[in-house]
Amino acid sequence: MISAQKSMAALTSFSLLSNYATTGSIVTSVRASPEVSSYASSINFLTANHSRRYLCRASASHDEEAVAKAAAINADSGAPTIIDKIVSKEIPSTIVYEDDKVLAFKDINPQAPVHVLVIPKCRDGLTQLGKAEQRHGEILGQLLYAARMVAEKEGILDGFRVVINNGPSACQSVYHLHLHVLGGRQMKWPPG
Ligand code: 5GP
Repeated sequence: MISAQKSMAALTSFSLLSNYATTGSIVTSVRASPEVSSYASSINFLTANHSRRYLCRASASHDEEAVAKAAAINADSGAPTIIDKIVSKEIPSTIVYEDDKVLAFKDINPQAPVHVLVIPKCRDGLTQLGKAEQRHGEILGQLLYAARMVAEKEGILDGFRVVINNGPSACQSVYHLHLHVLGGRQMKWPPG
């Protein structure tokens, strides 16, 4: 029996599916996972096509969670992240907004027509929102204001969402605080 929670996790990972071009390899990885294999035995009533789609959803969710768990291990090591390389322009990005403290650039793996990451240029201990201290109040406010600037620049001021994934349970994969600004489509509630 699939628990409601696992069902929800699988279904809400639907947007990740668009990033997987090869269904075959996804099904292979599902079979390799005992946790997700148990999903498969519960969905025999579905057609072959539906089953494959369901397995893909479960696998995408599983992969995302595994990546987040792995990332959390080194969360506080002080090691540079991909965001440091983006700030230093070592890795190119499409910049949407920039000032002396904040940088906003398009997410490489967009989950909506508009998907921009807003970051403090200097991490200063803010690997995640859960590490915020009172002294971070000013930069946190600047990040939110920058999110609004991004929404205006991207033409989504009438409806947009700001998301911060905090920690492995929220599938945070990069440990340098970042706000996701999402919009350009109807956003659903509850989120996944
Ligand atoms: P998180 O999972 O930590 O909340 O979000 C990390 C985000 O960083 C993801 O949405 C992911 O697509 C994005 N990302 C990872 N690597 C890169 C990169 O090299 N360039 C850009 N622009 N975004 C990235």
